[in-house]
Amino acid sequence: MIRPEISDLGAYSLRQYPHRIKLNQNENPFELPESIKAEILERLTRATWSRYPAFVPEEQIARVAAFGGWKPEGTLLGNGSNDLLQLLFMSVLERGKTCVISQPTFTLYKILARGFGASVEEVPMTRDFRFDVDRIISAARSRSAEMVVLCSPNNPTGTLLGRDEVVSILEQTSGLVVLDEAYVQFAPGSLVNLLGKYDRLVVLQTFSKAMGAAGLRFGYAFCQPTLAADLSKLKLPYSINIFTLLAVDALIDHWPLLKGWIDTIVRERERALTALRAMPEVKAYPSGANFLLFESLHRTPAEVFKGVLEKGILIRDVSSYPMLERGLRVSVGTPEENDQFISALKAAV
Ligand code: PMP
Repeated sequence: MIRPEISDLGAYSLRQYPHRIKLNQNENPFELPESIKAEILERLTRATWSRYPAFVPEEQIARVAAFGGWKPEGTLLGNGSNDLLQLLFMSVLERGKTCVISQPTFTLYKILARGFGASVEEVPMTRDFRFDVDRIISAARSRSAEMVVLCSPNNPTGTLLGRDEVVSILEQTSGLVVLDEAYVQFAPGSLVNLLGKYDRLVVLQTFSKAMGAAGLRFGYAFCQPTLAADLSKLKLPYSINIFTLLAVDALIDHWPLLKGWIDTIVRERERALTALRAMPEVKAYPSGANFLLFESLHRTPAEVFKGVLEKGILIRDVSSYPMLERGLRVSVGTPEENDQFISALKAAV
């Protein structure tokens, strides 16, 4: 009964190992202060649990739109940005359609595109992990692709796409361009303002990374209001529960205070990069996100992963990704966690 494109698919899974320090999922290492959690719980106690949330949570839509710098009518809220990726792919892709993806990148894009029956045109990055914009454009043009997916900063390489590069792709292709900015707060800036000029663009952001709220499951998409109206037809009603809606309000209220996290993480990312670059056994790449990609030049990634885990530190072996046969990825943790990771890595490589 299952469609063959789904039974043929590899599962998107992640094995967790016992650990002391968790640096494998690009999460924010800083936990929301107790006082803010207490405030959210207090608001939740006063809310009505027996009733559905608002059919369209206008208040949070307006706040998120203002927060991200776009129009409320062109804003969709999701149960994590994964939820909105699924909605987008489901709305655009089917058998006979083509989706262009730069590789290596976030695994879910290919799984979703294939799961909805589309063919996936994979464009390798350059050897030094830059986007090969010319090849992305020619792949999209030659297949008249209905969708091009871009991730900036890119997971797992940390690569940034420049404004000019995204503009070239928009100008020279004809499908929907999905720009996943899950890690944008760690980068020099968002390309949300391209939405004013290009109506085939969708920008996705999330509260799972910089906002320190991966457990809440909250993401959002910005696009033209007409496109948002079409996409919302297949969106499940009430997919965001009252707890998340209240927490989103609180996070936006307190963001001026919380965003100090970002400076610390960016500073720590650069410090960790310098330390990795001083190790002759690894090759580390610059990153615009809250994680670093590095290659192990002598030991296998599996050996390095195991060696670091023996010290209680969980990182990500990304050697099964295209082009990353020697690759590992580590999230930027607290200064203390990063120190421990660096010394564990020195011993493991
Ligand atoms: N996009 C990218 C590039 C990601 O790395 C992730 C998380 N791994 C997501 C989207 C999904 O994030 P969310 O928690 O908002 O569903």
